[in-house]
Amino acid sequence: MTQDLRNVIAGESVAPTAGTPQIPLINPSTGEVYGSAPASTGADVDYACQAASSALTTWRRVTPADRSAAMLRAATILENATEELCSLEVLGTGKPVRQMVDDEFPAIIDQIRFFAGACRVLEGSSSGEYLPDIVSSVRREPLGVCALITPWNYPLMMAVWKWAPAIATGNTVVLKPSELAPASTVRMAELLQEVFPPGVLNVICGAAPTGEALVRHPLVAAVSLTGSTRAGRAVATIAADRLIHVQLELGGNAPVIVFADANLPSAASAIIAAALYNSGQDCTAATRVLVQSSVHDNFVELLLSYASRTTCGAPHEDADLGPLISEAQLRRVEDLLSDLGQSGQVVCGGKRIQRAGYFFPPTIVTNLTQDHALVQQEIFGPVVTLQKFTSEEDAISLANGVSQGLTASVWTTDTGCAMRLARELDFGAVSVNTHAPMASEMPHGGFGASGYGNDLSIYGLDEYTRIKHVAVSLANT
Ligand code: NAD
Repeated sequence: MTQDLRNVIAGESVAPTAGTPQIPLINPSTGEVYGSAPASTGADVDYACQAASSALTTWRRVTPADRSAAMLRAATILENATEELCSLEVLGTGKPVRQMVDDEFPAIIDQIRFFAGACRVLEGSSSGEYLPDIVSSVRREPLGVCALITPWNYPLMMAVWKWAPAIATGNTVVLKPSELAPASTVRMAELLQEVFPPGVLNVICGAAPTGEALVRHPLVAAVSLTGSTRAGRAVATIAADRLIHVQLELGGNAPVIVFADANLPSAASAIIAAALYNSGQDCTAATRVLVQSSVHDNFVELLLSYASRTTCGAPHEDADLGPLISEAQLRRVEDLLSDLGQSGQVVCGGKRIQRAGYFFPPTIVTNLTQDHALVQQEIFGPVVTLQKFTSEEDAISLANGVSQGLTASVWTTDTGCAMRLARELDFGAVSVNTHAPMASEMPHGGFGASGYGNDLSIYGLDEYTRIKHVAVSLANT
């Protein structure tokens, strides 16, 4: 299959401006090139922003009921294209077909339907006479043209987390998918042109320079980015200069705190699954395991027994794990593992799998110190690190001792302990005896270097709306 992608602007698939460089698209399961995407430049970005701005004039006035109906039609159109969209996503990312079709895609459709409903119950919070003879009300309005920038690990889902709440609330969007896996997002946008008026949903391909040009465009009123902390900083700097609204869902480095009284076999099984899902290329991956000293060795054995049953393979090989996204990502994981300090020890995995593509096996590293890069940095690979703790205070200090604060989990049968940790942990989500479950109704966002704002849930709509105080005098004029 060869994919030579075009941008989707103003309701049409558009060839990029003559001379635009092309970015090769590489299948991570084979290392082979399967197509290309334009590295869109300023002229293409401008065309997309102009289209979104023109469409805004009418889309922002469409009633919530009609927007909701369009969103519901969008969900059905995409659902009917499950096979095509999942194939493209699998081609671009290498993830197992089963994972895409059974887990991710149904959630994506549900998220669109959630926002179709949520946009009908939005309201200003207050209406009344707070000053003599002045009636005040609060209007909730769309922000305008939104720049949406997404990563490669869940291309379709991350796109939906952004365009669905933005369009549902009356904004128009220019979405830039990751240059590493843009094909499924482009196809999704093509399919949805029959539902939304031209210019409401535009997709423009390219890498960081295209993203920067988009955020700098004068017609862009807000930016939402999911990606690395590095990209978040770059975008926030431009947004600060332009004083536009910004939402950032950045990297994570989840602590997974296992107390001696937990159900250890069931915790180990669930933690291995949550650490290795999507080959660990997940901002919520359960990678940084902190275990109470008294059960540490026993717990390592349990993790090993589950990890050793995990299989790696290409999307159609019915394996648990696919490849990493690129040679660069694989090298990054190798580099992080190349120096384990004085005490660190690899107890399984640790070396790339010798076959075409970018496969890396489940890897467990023990005895790391808190200052080690594997502990301090998001790994984004199938690697679990272990550290020991003695007391609750010790666990909290190790858990909070990193810059990112997206998600954390606590494994214990002591409810008081679980609730104390939920209070003390500096993370946007804390789960107990499970790791980072995701529901359309619940917010997903981080603290610290994981960014600010929320995706999903009714809170996600705050990122795409503004409130306005309207005051009307009752006096006879
Ligand atoms: P990345 O930061 O390299 O790229 C993300 C997106 O930002 C891409 O579209 C990229 O082209 C664009 N980009 C990069 N630099 C930019 C710049 N200076 N200006 C404008 N756009 C720019 O991240 P990635 O490697 O694609 O994805 C992995 C990262 O995403 C990980 O850190 C992961 O934790 C994070 N992530 C976070 C969440 C979350 O919900 N918090 C979800 C998924 C992924």
